[in-house]
Amino acid sequence: MTNVMKDYFLNLDAAAKDPERKVAWCTSVGPAEILRAMGFEVYFPENHGAMLGATRVSSDTIPVANANGYSPEICSYLTSDVGAYMKGITPLTKAFGITEVPRPDILVYNTNQCKDVMHWFEYYAKEFDTPIFGIHPPTNIPDIRQQYIDDVTRQFEELITFLEPIIGHPLDPEKLKQTVALSLEATTLWSEVLDMAKVRPSPLTFFDGTIYMGPIVVLRGTQIAVDYYKNLLAELKQKVAENHAAVKKENKRIYWDGMPVWGRLRSLSNIFDENDACVVASTYCNSWVFSDFDPEDPLASMARAYIKIFINRNDGFKENYIADMVRDFHIDGVVFMAARTCPNNSNAHYNLPRKLKERGIPTIIIDGDLCDLRCFSDEQSTTLIEAFLETI
Ligand code: SF4
Repeated sequence: MTNVMKDYFLNLDAAAKDPERKVAWCTSVGPAEILRAMGFEVYFPENHGAMLGATRVSSDTIPVANANGYSPEICSYLTSDVGAYMKGITPLTKAFGITEVPRPDILVYNTNQCKDVMHWFEYYAKEFDTPIFGIHPPTNIPDIRQQYIDDVTRQFEELITFLEPIIGHPLDPEKLKQTVALSLEATTLWSEVLDMAKVRPSPLTFFDGTIYMGPIVVLRGTQIAVDYYKNLLAELKQKVAENHAAVKKENKRIYWDGMPVWGRLRSLSNIFDENDACVVASTYCNSWVFSDFDPEDPLASMARAYIKIFINRNDGFKENYIADMVRDFHIDGVVFMAARTCPNNSNAHYNLPRKLKERGIPTIIIDGDLCDLRCFSDEQSTTLIEAFLETI
């Protein structure tokens, strides 16, 4: 894993310094396949936000963005990342000796997840005087309609036309098919990796998943991601064969909804472990399962896959989705993490926990955040989680 991510960032760094190569910035559920198929190296600022959170560097960078006019109430990936840029620091320096994030030749965002990404990318477009393109799909949809797919397919076609003069050649349709095929293979393997947690005791936890998910976010459409997940799956199967439990005395199985608290992965993991509870499934890790990709119909299938994501759906869909996960993964209770700065990925605000309770599923809400640890109380969360685990 370390080598996969190291090579990915060193390659990006080299591309940014090479006038012959082009770097595209893309949102985490943006059309990375189109960018890769056209020959761009692809960088994901949200991944950088997560690194800033996990290393807790964001505690120093969020206030810088706040002091420069970005509210503490908005996405703390955005404020962590913009603050880091303003401060001139990146965790890539300590991790891989890279002095700055790769400068973009093009910025491409997709508002399928939220509109914060638009403000975020627009900041950099102005800062670097770089072209920018936004995909604006229908949002918060109860079901998938053909006109939505047609709409987003047309937007992808427009994007390709926009990108061709920047990269200097037309899109090769065969290359796009191959890239989508690689994405499909990687995402299928990733889904199989996550499904290994259906086994009792589970060989992995949600906290492991937040680390294992790196390649499916940043290396979709590459052979590297496929190979990584083949290895990981084989390793997990071996662990199951050896009866290796991620939580030694697993006797409660938990579902995690919402974002990870990146700066508290270890301590939260320890709390569950000490209470013999394994967090076996999550909305977050499953957000990069795109079973609709079809190499024979690349653009329309990408449109469908990227519209369909959990975050872009209504509460009726979300309720049924979580209830199905509870059934399939033999879950005893659901933890909702209400992220202060990301209402888009927090599902506790519109009565969803209570609706699940009415279906016989125990739920709890903990307040926190993905990166801003000022919004997270260790004491309160520990007390709440321990009391919840005791009652179930
Ligand atoms: S979905 Fe939430 S965490 Fe992700 S970019 Fe949007 S506001 Fe930030």
